[in-house]
Amino acid sequence: MQVKDITSRDFWRAKKRIAPYITRTPLVYSPELSEKTGANIYLKFENLQAIGAFKVRGAANKILSLTDEQKAKGVSTFSTGNHGMAVAHIASRLGIKATVCMSKAVPAVKVKAISRWNPEILQNWDSQDAAGVYCYELEEKEGVVVIPPFDDKEIICGQGTMSLEILEDCPEIDTAIVPLSGGGLMSGVTLGFKLTVPDVKLIGVSHQRAAVMIESLKVGHPIEMPEEETLADSLLGGIGLDNKYTFDITRDFVDETIQVSEEEIAKGIAYIMENHHLIAEGASATGVALAMREGYIKPGSNVAIIVTGCGIPMSQVKQIVNDHF
Ligand SMILES: *Cc1c(COP(=O)(O)O)cnc(C)c1O
Repeated sequence: MQVKDITSRDFWRAKKRIAPYITRTPLVYSPELSEKTGANIYLKFENLQAIGAFKVRGAANKILSLTDEQKAKGVSTFSTGNHGMAVAHIASRLGIKATVCMSKAVPAVKVKAISRWNPEILQNWDSQDAAGVYCYELEEKEGVVVIPPFDDKEIICGQGTMSLEILEDCPEIDTAIVPLSGGGLMSGVTLGFKLTVPDVKLIGVSHQRAAVMIESLKVGHPIEMPEEETLADSLLGGIGLDNKYTFDITRDFVDETIQVSEEEIAKGIAYIMENHHLIAEGASATGVALAMREGYIKPGSNVAIIVTGCGIPMSQVKQIVNDHF
């Protein structure tokens, strides 16, 4: 089966290609949540990746698929979040020049986090959009390849490699819960499963404040929305009005999309801390938050939940510890 220009072979290719550059994360049984729901719940801990999030998978697959000529010219990104870190990290490991363009408003802590991998940082713009425009000009003029955050075949196939790992670890999985923003992760995990075992149920979960993909699905085409503050800040951002892959794939292959409240997200973070002694950022706790909702999980099912990252400020951790323990 083929979806757009993607086949299951692309996922297996990606898996082999990125193996030396990523952590093969564990799929961990969660006894408390399993007992509470009457299901078997497993957590895929992508917060254990070296940069603290799954985005190394897509970035590695995309950058490794470039030609030598392209690699010699370098890559760029205008993300200052987990994707930006992933691009800078992988480029540095491959000895490829990375340029990160960002708005003057990006706070010093974020600039410092990305600086760890020594990309060239240009902070000349008043908005992230303007920084993005410059990246594409640089691509046009000098051939510096922009590494897109989600709407790209190689990014999608890189993120989807985790489905193959989940099936290796637990072939009985019948349901997967996946945090959803631009939908690179959702599209990848969905096709990674469905092109291999079509009967796995895929559930996308987002925050309640400006979940752009979910609102776009409701009106039938990609829309733009203003951002609002949320604990799940890695789920902020649009899906692109000229979306090529992730809108269609989410619409056609994801079985259900659903939103969780800020309070539920906080409880999800607290659950992972208390029961697994690991730190998850808000975006990455949305799946656990949904599974904790009374009556949501079907008893007897075998559920994989992607815990996507751990980039949370310690002040937020402190607040959650104070509120929940
Ligand atoms: C990017 C990201 C997501 C969402 O991924 P998309 O491909 O944009 O949907 C979820 N969680 C974390 C921690 C992320 O960094």
